[in-house]
Amino acid sequence: MLLRHTTADVTERTALTINPAKTCQPIGAMYAALGIHACLPHSHGSQGCCSYHRSTLTRHYKEPVMAGTSSFTEGSSVFGGQANLLQAIANIFDIYDPDVIAVHTTCLSETIGDDLVQIIAKAREEGSIPPGKMVIHTNTPSYAGSHVTGFSSMVKSMVGYFSEPSDIRSRTINIIPGWVEPSDMREIKRLVGLLGAESIMFPDTSDVLDAPQTGKHVFYPKGGVTMPALRRTGESAVTLALGPTASEAAAKALDVKCGVPCETMTLPIGLQATDRFIDAVRLHSGHGVPVAIEEERGRLIDIMTDMGQYLQGKRVALWGDPDQLVALSEFLVDLDMKPVYVVTGTPGKVFERRMERALQGRVPEAKVQQGATADMFLMHQWIKQEPVDLLIGNTYGKYIARDEDIPFVRHGFPILDRIGHSYFPTVGYTGAIRLLEKFLDVFLDRRDRDDPEERFELVM
Ligand code: SF4
Repeated sequence: MLLRHTTADVTERTALTINPAKTCQPIGAMYAALGIHACLPHSHGSQGCCSYHRSTLTRHYKEPVMAGTSSFTEGSSVFGGQANLLQAIANIFDIYDPDVIAVHTTCLSETIGDDLVQIIAKAREEGSIPPGKMVIHTNTPSYAGSHVTGFSSMVKSMVGYFSEPSDIRSRTINIIPGWVEPSDMREIKRLVGLLGAESIMFPDTSDVLDAPQTGKHVFYPKGGVTMPALRRTGESAVTLALGPTASEAAAKALDVKCGVPCETMTLPIGLQATDRFIDAVRLHSGHGVPVAIEEERGRLIDIMTDMGQYLQGKRVALWGDPDQLVALSEFLVDLDMKPVYVVTGTPGKVFERRMERALQGRVPEAKVQQGATADMFLMHQWIKQEPVDLLIGNTYGKYIARDEDIPFVRHGFPILDRIGHSYFPTVGYTGAIRLLEKFLDVFLDRRDRDDPEERFELVM
């Protein structure tokens, strides 16, 4: 009973967050940067911040996450971190030879007010950036936003630094996948490939954070979007931004900079969102939907129909990233389940409107909250008032799951105590089947545990 002090009485809070449903901006910037081929993320701040960001990513992906740090000391905290960053850029190119250094700021360097544009220009003047190499940056003070907005900012910076306006208009589709797993990025590319479309995905962490064990340490794995591909995003036909919070800012910036029109879509999790994604790629590519994809969809519908009896009416509490929550909620409603409590600590303007659409008017009792006080504590209080049948969210939900004895499916970031998320996608029709399997497993395991002997069934 680790959370035994949580009460059912909700007191209005204005300045206190307890167990936030989000984490720190630079983690998102670091994750996005790892989706560029041969990129070394760099944290402009103290060593502690960088260690925390690296270790959180390492614990989630179970892969070594490399990043540099400006290693602020008391001196840099007072006089600014320019000297440290200049030295870092020179050292990193000298020793680690990346194609790109992607610098993000932290609370400390933002509070000091370090001007990264000027520092990077000075590094170039001093000849510390070798020809053909790039240093890019984004601002990620963590007293604002969340890991998702940090991801969004770094992706937008990729457009600002790389995308080149062009008179040529290719048939390529840019895909900004949002904060999803490497496995999801691979699955999105597979579906787009089956539809016969050319695409550039950025960022792309597949084959970076799920690279195979070969017996040899490779500092820069083969995955990640390359610099030439990033430059060509400016001549693509369209950009599909998957998830408004993580992807829309970059897509709109690309439209403004290079005139590439964009479409913002729900992450393709579940039946309807995947249908819309497939349809958008079909329309833009001009190719029909192949039988292989129709069959995957058919298999999903078959399982939804066969197993609906175990899902219908189940009350669910979810927490995490807004783009994920919207897509998951829509899928849960399609399964006749009820996402009754939904919280996210990530700020943003469109979440509540999108959630309303996702709930399709079928869960009038739903409580949806966003912002500083939309935390795990509040969600636990709601659960104490009226319990749920299922929890869906990151590892931090395990305390509530244990205390309240509620089935729990891990989804989102971070997952620190299980594996599988980086290897098995939850996007697309096949991903939806995997989600269904997970929901059914926890419900049926619970029945196996709790049913009286006369109702204990071999076949379910
Ligand atoms: S919240 Fe700020 S100080 Fe803390 S780890 Fe994140 S960037 Fe560093």
